[in-house]
Amino acid sequence: MPLYTFRCSEGTEFDLNFAMRDVPASVACPTCGEPARRRVTAPRLSRAGSAAYRLIDSTAASAHEPAVVTSLPSGPARRPAPRVSQNPLHSKLPRP
Ligand SMILES: [Zn+2]
Repeated sequence: MPLYTFRCSEGTEFDLNFAMRDVPASVACPTCGEPARRRVTAPRLSRAGSAAYRLIDSTAASAHEPAVVTSLPSGPARRPAPRVSQNPLHSKLPRP
């Protein structure tokens, strides 16, 4: 969720997270209780926790501490290599 900056009439600034569709124009100031209006700032969208951020972290970690594996990763069995041609007439051609 984006972080929004609010400022009350007494000059207190504070940040709150809201969903983009739920952000109010003003909220109550936590120190004086007066309504604080939302300030227009550049959007501050966090990338922490995203797939791109995890990839950057894992890449940096593996640069210093490579992961050592002792077995092949488990997963689906390897499929046979696909045929070069799907045309059935090609199977009738002479092979070397
Ligand atoms: Zn205030």
